[in-house]
Amino acid sequence: MPVDIPKDLITELASAERVVVLTGAGVSAESGVPTFREAHTGLWSQYDPRELATPQAFARNPRLVWEWYEWRRSLIQNAKPNRAHYALVDLEQALPTFLLVTQNIDGLHWLAGSRDMIELHGNIARTKCFEEGHAVTWWAETDEIPPRCPYCGGPLRPDVVWFGEGISEQSLRTATDAAAACDLFVCIGTSAVVHPASQLPLIAKRMGARVIEINTEQTAISVMADWSILGKSGEILPHLVREVGFPTTAIDGAAQ
Ligand SMILES: [Zn+2]
Repeated sequence: MPVDIPKDLITELASAERVVVLTGAGVSAESGVPTFREAHTGLWSQYDPRELATPQAFARNPRLVWEWYEWRRSLIQNAKPNRAHYALVDLEQALPTFLLVTQNIDGLHWLAGSRDMIELHGNIARTKCFEEGHAVTWWAETDEIPPRCPYCGGPLRPDVVWFGEGISEQSLRTATDAAAACDLFVCIGTSAVVHPASQLPLIAKRMGARVIEINTEQTAISVMADWSILGKSGEILPHLVREVGFPTTAIDGAAQ
């Protein structure tokens, strides 16, 4: 029994009709995914990551930025979903209306099986074209770095949201509408200081939802949350799913 989960929270979740979950770096960290800053070591420590993750940086030196993302992909290629990821799949399957909004770009939620999901900041495993935004799943391998878009010949880039770029309007509207309409909003492993994700729990709260926070430390959300549970999401979430009496699947074999 890792943590005590308040009885009224269990009752609330058991009867919830509409639940929105926001996840951040803390959930990825439990799978061993290095944070943006932690990924910035060795050869790359001489560069400022804020100078690499921008459209201007890519326009200036596309090869450098492409290779930085290759490096970051290599750091996460062995990462596996953890018990928190799988517990969120259980919630998606058990609840009448569920939306997962993630700030993580590692694709681990998808790998675990989450499907009602918005990847607010994109996905590092996906590639798109810098010029026209074409979604690209294959390209001709040549010596050229980055490779070229098979549709328009523009340089290819990772399908992530860079500093100075907006989140897709459609994703943002879907997330905002869901936050405004939910009964329960759950913030997991995020300090939610990055706009616009930071607005989502506030919108939910203002529209009458109860807010749960699960994090290893107190954050700006803690003061407005109805429940703030300190600890690892990989321990708390599966426990919560079991306590509520929802079916739990595929979590026992998951990486811790
Ligand atoms: Zn293109």
